[in-house]
Amino acid sequence: MNRITLPTQQIGDFSITAIGDGYASASLDFLTNINQMDAINLQKSAGVNDPTSIHINTYLIRGRGRTILIDTGAGGYNQWGGDLQTNLALTGVMPEDIDTILLTHAHADHIGGLVNTFGEAAFPNAELFIHEHELSFWENENNMIRASKHVQANFLFVKNVFAKYRERIRTFINNDILPGISSVHLPGHTPGHCGYQIETGNSSLIIWGDMVHFPFIQIAHPNVSIAFDQDPILSAQIRNKLLDIVSTEKLLVAGMHLNDLGFAYIEHSGTSYKIFYKV
Ligand SMILES: [Zn+2]
Ligand SMILES: [Zn+2]
Repeated sequence: MNRITLPTQQIGDFSITAIGDGYASASLDFLTNINQMDAINLQKSAGVNDPTSIHINTYLIRGRGRTILIDTGAGGYNQWGGDLQTNLALTGVMPEDIDTILLTHAHADHIGGLVNTFGEAAFPNAELFIHEHELSFWENENNMIRASKHVQANFLFVKNVFAKYRERIRTFINNDILPGISSVHLPGHTPGHCGYQIETGNSSLIIWGDMVHFPFIQIAHPNVSIAFDQDPILSAQIRNKLLDIVSTEKLLVAGMHLNDLGFAYIEHSGTSYKIFYKV
């Protein structure tokens, strides 16, 4: 059998592995503050074959007696992703081994993998952590009524998926989640969108959720938001602020749409930023 090495970083006692779920796609028309030709050219010069394809990552964290998953990919929702279970098995981890799931937010490409093809809970022993503002947003009937038909389908999906974990959902507002792991509220993409920072001793990693969907476009041009950003202006402000912090502090970053290499450093480049993957 071929051994496949998935991208893995060690942060103190924790080993963090990027586990791909596959791909979604989105038209570059969904981007704001950039014309489509410039967006395509940025993708081309970065060597991206299909400029509209969005890679989906989840992250497995092992250490201190815990087996944690951050997000669960799309699980085949809308024919996106669905490879998480197969790729997770490559690490020797079974779904029942996962004791904790930390969600960055409740978009379908992050929670779809919580249920299997029969619509049942895919992780029978996991407690589910989500920011209180995220859960209350999706559970608010008025928000659903006000939403477009397309977004209403998202609300229903969230409701059905969370119903399978009802007694196991833990909400938080404060930052400390587990020893060595804290949440970082990054609102704008959704109201309760969070990153997670893993910090032990003098090493640190921030998993920033959906700060970018197209890294080569949005890291070079942080003011570019996407139609999935509920508040595109706030989202751009938070993206600018976080890029400034991680580049100044030389913090290792990971993200759900950062691509299959999973981990990177960000550097200031004139008035913009550049991504350097850590391999
Ligand atoms: Zn999202
Ligand atoms: Zn996403």
